[in-house]
Amino acid sequence: MFPRKPIKKRLVYLDHAATTPVDLAVKKAMDPYFCEHYANPSGLYASSREVNYALNDARRKVAGILQALPDNIIFTGGGSESDNLAIFGAAHKQSKHGKPFGSAQGKHIITTKIEHHAVLLPMEQLQKEGFEVTFLAVDEQGRVTAEQIKKALRPDTILISIMYANNEIGTIEPIAEIGREILKWRKQNNTVYPFFHTDACQAAGALDLNVEKLHVDLMTLNGSKIYGPKGVGILFKRRGVEIKPLVLGGGQEMRLRSGTENVPGIVGTAKALDNAQKNSKKENLRLRKLRDYFWQEIQNKIKKVRLNGPELGDETVRLPNNLNVSILDVEGEALLLYLDEYGIMCSTGSACTSQSLEPSHVLTACGLPYEYAHGSLRFTLGKSTIKQDIDYVMKYLPGIVERLREVSPVNLTCDPKKNLHPKYHQR
Ligand SMILES: *Cc1c(COP(=O)(O)O)cnc(C)c1O
Repeated sequence: MFPRKPIKKRLVYLDHAATTPVDLAVKKAMDPYFCEHYANPSGLYASSREVNYALNDARRKVAGILQALPDNIIFTGGGSESDNLAIFGAAHKQSKHGKPFGSAQGKHIITTKIEHHAVLLPMEQLQKEGFEVTFLAVDEQGRVTAEQIKKALRPDTILISIMYANNEIGTIEPIAEIGREILKWRKQNNTVYPFFHTDACQAAGALDLNVEKLHVDLMTLNGSKIYGPKGVGILFKRRGVEIKPLVLGGGQEMRLRSGTENVPGIVGTAKALDNAQKNSKKENLRLRKLRDYFWQEIQNKIKKVRLNGPELGDETVRLPNNLNVSILDVEGEALLLYLDEYGIMCSTGSACTSQSLEPSHVLTACGLPYEYAHGSLRFTLGKSTIKQDIDYVMKYLPGIVERLREVSPVNLTCDPKKNLHPKYHQR
């Protein structure tokens, strides 16, 4: 029913929430630290001191953007590692020999049901170790409230981890408000606990990262979502917040993350973060306009569609580049693969081909029925996206949907033999 080998007239990358290309200016900033300035920053000779200077310059730059101190900045091997370091680090600092302290102290943690797996899985691991974790429910738009946090707080709560912006549906959580609630609780109870961590990987390109305004104690960022290199993470850790390292060794990064520093990656990530924050205001506006146009076009040209996540009108509740839609009576993965044949890249919350057969935990937590979750597509726009890209997608998407709806009425039992693109059977 489809051309065997469609001609890829265009490559349209609409998966910027998965990762971004490295910006040319970032690549240029990294370049000298591969072959030229390669010395180990811990060495004592001049070449090492020079590299160490570049490393600490990057640290100062990041600290400046976050309104933090340079020694609050720990460079890691990515967003997942920073999340793990913050969560295991804070929890295990509270435990003796891997076991939580006595029943009254230090075994309760609060998070949400829609966190990235780099947060959810450490939480599940901590549960196995004896910690008690409250996974807060979210509303239809994926929001948690400061009021919910207030209600969930207990005298033995040691850690709260709430994502700044969601990677699937773009929901922005009220981090500053939650932070204020936690501050109030600490004051009333005369305690330094709970620590407040936020995963800000998706927020870094669009939102304010001032840790003083946000009232966070720990914040995770990474390079790969902001046109920086992959495999580089940042963990902001406020002074006085004690965590246990995951990686032991040479004692780099204030003894919290051993291992020879990824100097080119760190230099590139600092540069990328600086660029992202400088351009965000203008770029947010541009992306929002494009995204809103895209959604309008989808509504005009495809029947039975639904917007997932927050309404588009309010810029304070949804990331500007995120469009997550459900197209009823089609399988998200089938759509994805047919779009790929036209050079269009996006992602889906459907999971009919994965082992679990479970659709996205985020869409499910928002109360989206199965049949909608299975037809979900996530488009995330970026720096290179222009109106012609959206028009190109809209030239093919309606036809693909129509034909898929004709040939194979949706199969809600998720039988992988039905309904899918032939590519899947080759695996
Ligand atoms: C991408 C992402 C991560 C993981 O970051 P990596 O650098 O790929 O390890 C964690 N949290 C969120 C919200 C993300 O979007």
